[in-house]
Amino acid sequence: MNSEAQKHPTIVDPQTYLAGCTCGNQHPTPQVTLYSAMDASKVLAEDCQAIYRNRSVLLLSDPETDAVAGAKVRQELEQAQVSLEHYFLPSNPVATDHLVEKIQTVSRDKALIISVGSGTVNDLGKYAADQNGIDFWSMPTAPSMNGYTSGIAAIKVKGVKRTLPAVPPQRIYVFPGVVQQAPLKLRQAGFCDVLAKVVSDIDWQCESLLFSDSYCGLPASMMTAVEKTYSDYPEEIGRGDESAVMGLFNGLLLSGIAMSLAGSSAPASGGEHLVSHFWDMREPITGREPELHGLQVGVGIILSTACYRRLAQLNKADLPQQAERVFSATTARIPEIWGPNADEVAKQFQNKRAALLKFDTLLPQHWEELQELFRQVQPPEHFVELFTRTGAPFSLEAFRLTQDEFMLAALNSRAIRERITVLDLAAHAGVLEAAAEDALQLLR
Ligand SMILES: [Zn+2]
Ligand SMILES: [Zn+2]
Repeated sequence: MNSEAQKHPTIVDPQTYLAGCTCGNQHPTPQVTLYSAMDASKVLAEDCQAIYRNRSVLLLSDPETDAVAGAKVRQELEQAQVSLEHYFLPSNPVATDHLVEKIQTVSRDKALIISVGSGTVNDLGKYAADQNGIDFWSMPTAPSMNGYTSGIAAIKVKGVKRTLPAVPPQRIYVFPGVVQQAPLKLRQAGFCDVLAKVVSDIDWQCESLLFSDSYCGLPASMMTAVEKTYSDYPEEIGRGDESAVMGLFNGLLLSGIAMSLAGSSAPASGGEHLVSHFWDMREPITGREPELHGLQVGVGIILSTACYRRLAQLNKADLPQQAERVFSATTARIPEIWGPNADEVAKQFQNKRAALLKFDTLLPQHWEELQELFRQVQPPEHFVELFTRTGAPFSLEAFRLTQDEFMLAALNSRAIRERITVLDLAAHAGVLEAAAEDALQLLR
């Protein structure tokens, strides 16, 4: 191993990561490297100077992330005589197509974009760099979501939230102290987002069994290997204990890589993510500013696990034959829920009509195998307890969600994406409403 590889190891060891593959197909080799230490800004600046010489670089930060890390990085870059431009975002920036365009324009003549921040600052930098075909580095400031290493960016296009493909960063630099001391709510959000994979992996296995045969055990095996370093320590994560928070952060980085290895977001984004996208997309209609991605996903986990429990109790003989009726009923509600965006949503839902109609025959055919998968999922109480143990409240009220808005998302968010999830299974089996009521009891 050369000294560069020693100093900047790839997050996933290229020698061993393929051991968990069960599909036999080719997987890409994850290239993203990590440098995590107190002198991260100094090393970043030296690397930047060594690689890009006199070509100029754009740094993105907002007031909060600049205060904890951005200013220090800028200072080091200037000291290393890197030609630097700073794009200073407002507090709580929103990743819109409009803002991406501005950043693309400013970075057109640059060699590299460096994002200093969490979700939005990274999505903006990653997507603008991808669009301009230039390099992208990231300095995460919070363990709040798994998107740092993923090959997608969440951008609002014409008011509709989209997850768009974008090349992951080549390099990640981290001040461990900054990540460790990120606000509690951000740590709780990351804790929810990383645990989502426990349920989304089962969603993927169900879908694969019924339709695509695309499942691979590689992402799950990568996560299982590290899961105990965060899932057993909610209180410690809440208190900001170093090894627990860095365990969580590492889990989030791996979870983003697991997504890119699978070539889709399926291993870390199932029905639990749909309700979060639903609330993001409803903002123009409800006026409710979305809560942190991970926290909304946490609410989705409670719903998904409640669905799995109801499904596990169902006998094959009780499965209704009602695919057509269920599809029509959900379609009929799209206009009132989505107003001006109804056509776009209806198109997405229509894309999975053919698959949903096969449920009448496929579900009874595979019910025993499906039940084995359903039974692997922990009950919703388990997750509510874990999330609450971080020390931050975990309820609809804390996330400014009304019971009506929760029920609306629970029953209708399956229409916004064509991917088959547990929400489709539960709707077809006639247990979605009861499961949503179960979840509601736990979130009051
Ligand atoms: Zn595989
Ligand atoms: Zn997520």
